Amino acid sequence: MNLSKTDPQIAKLIKLEEKRQTEVLEMIPSENYASRAVMEALGTVLTNKYSEGYPKKRYYQGNKIIDEVEILAIERAKKLFKVPHANVQPYSGSPANTAVYFALLAPLKDKIMGLSLAFGGHLTHGAPVSISGKYFKTVPYELGKDGWLDYDAIEKLAKSQKPKIIVCGFTAYPRKIDFKRFGQIADSVGAYLLADISHITGLIIAGVHPDPVPYADIIMTTTHKTLRGPRGAIIMVTEKGLKKDPELAEKIDKAVFPGLQGGPHDNQTAAIAVALRQAQGKPFKRYGEQIVKNSQALASSLNGFGFDLSGSGSDNHLILIDLRTKGVNGSVAAIALEVAGIVVNKNGVPFDTMPPFYPSGIRLGTPAITTRGMKEKEMKKIAKWISLAIDEVKNERFPTEKEARIQFMKGFRIRVEHNKNLKKIAQEVKNLTNKFPIP
Ligand SMILES: *Cc1c(COP(=O)(O)O)cnc(C)c1O
Repeated sequence: MNLSKTDPQIAKLIKLEEKRQTEVLEMIPSENYASRAVMEALGTVLTNKYSEGYPKKRYYQGNKIIDEVEILAIERAKKLFKVPHANVQPYSGSPANTAVYFALLAPLKDKIMGLSLAFGGHLTHGAPVSISGKYFKTVPYELGKDGWLDYDAIEKLAKSQKPKIIVCGFTAYPRKIDFKRFGQIADSVGAYLLADISHITGLIIAGVHPDPVPYADIIMTTTHKTLRGPRGAIIMVTEKGLKKDPELAEKIDKAVFPGLQGGPHDNQTAAIAVALRQAQGKPFKRYGEQIVKNSQALASSLNGFGFDLSGSGSDNHLILIDLRTKGVNGSVAAIALEVAGIVVNKNGVPFDTMPPFYPSGIRLGTPAITTRGMKEKEMKKIAKWISLAIDEVKNERFPTEKEARIQFMKGFRIRVEHNKNLKKIAQEVKNLTNKFPIP
């Protein structure tokens, strides 16, 4: 029995979500459109199997075929990233980072040094609300006043704090990462370097962002962002890492299973293998190149409309707009843009004085719209719509008191849903997205 007969409620919601994804400009930089082939692999009988353990070392019978699936995924990851070891079992990025810490750090004793959440680090890089910050000691670093990484300050902090692991790779950083410098800093204090390339994997594969392989000991990537696969993650160990610690690969594998997880999601493993295959070759390279070209075109147009960009621009897939100079709060801007059919997320900016729920900026990126085939010409249109939409709400006075803010947001949502100019933009967005079907 198919879904629409068995569960019409869920079937209808899926249809509606599909329509939403089709009609809007999906510009959250961590999102993308997985291919039909990837989704096909996800929705298969592989979801029925239990395969605790690793290929050829399983705790359950009946895994001969699953072994072949997982070996293919592992071999493709090793080949694509040019690393000697890959674990494709982590359920997602957060459990993958947790496994790395669990493998290498003594709880409540060893230190994780990662970029502060408020500056664009991930929750799992030592944020106090996350298990990474609750179970381990943490040493947060920050960005410089210009919104760029300040390597001298990072080096100084590492030398004084002696972290056991340094994490580089971010969620809201629009510039290139100097992995070589991070590697030197980690080596100089005897720390492991974890490169969390979740956001930029696709750019690294395409050769438009420096590769961490020669400099990092461990590399973690999610599989559902610029890689365009299913939700999931891969942890890799480099030659350098194996030299530093010959047991590194074993430690990581043991931390994933049995340390943190039970049975791997074999359907997800198969879909990761499919995505890795699709990432080999010229078309994916062109895709990665176009993501960056689009991001830079969008950044320069936004600049033209007087927007203040954190880090003064973009050389990857994302842009962080500091809205303080426009006098608009990020949560207000994000809602207005959603009504206009442009989906972004509110985000803190470096040295933000506002709380994370009402931050001063918005974060947007080009991976998903580039998957639809949009190019520089479309970026100009999008920048104009963003500017028009934010102009619509520039006179909204954002209250300073907490209670007043909650009341304000309620009224604002109702007002903005009825804004004719925003709805007009949404119609133009729909006309554009119509011309760029999701592949
Ligand atoms: C997305 C992301 C993660 C976590 O991935 P989830 O799959 O959401 O758990 C970890 N690190 C970075 C840098 C990310 O961007």
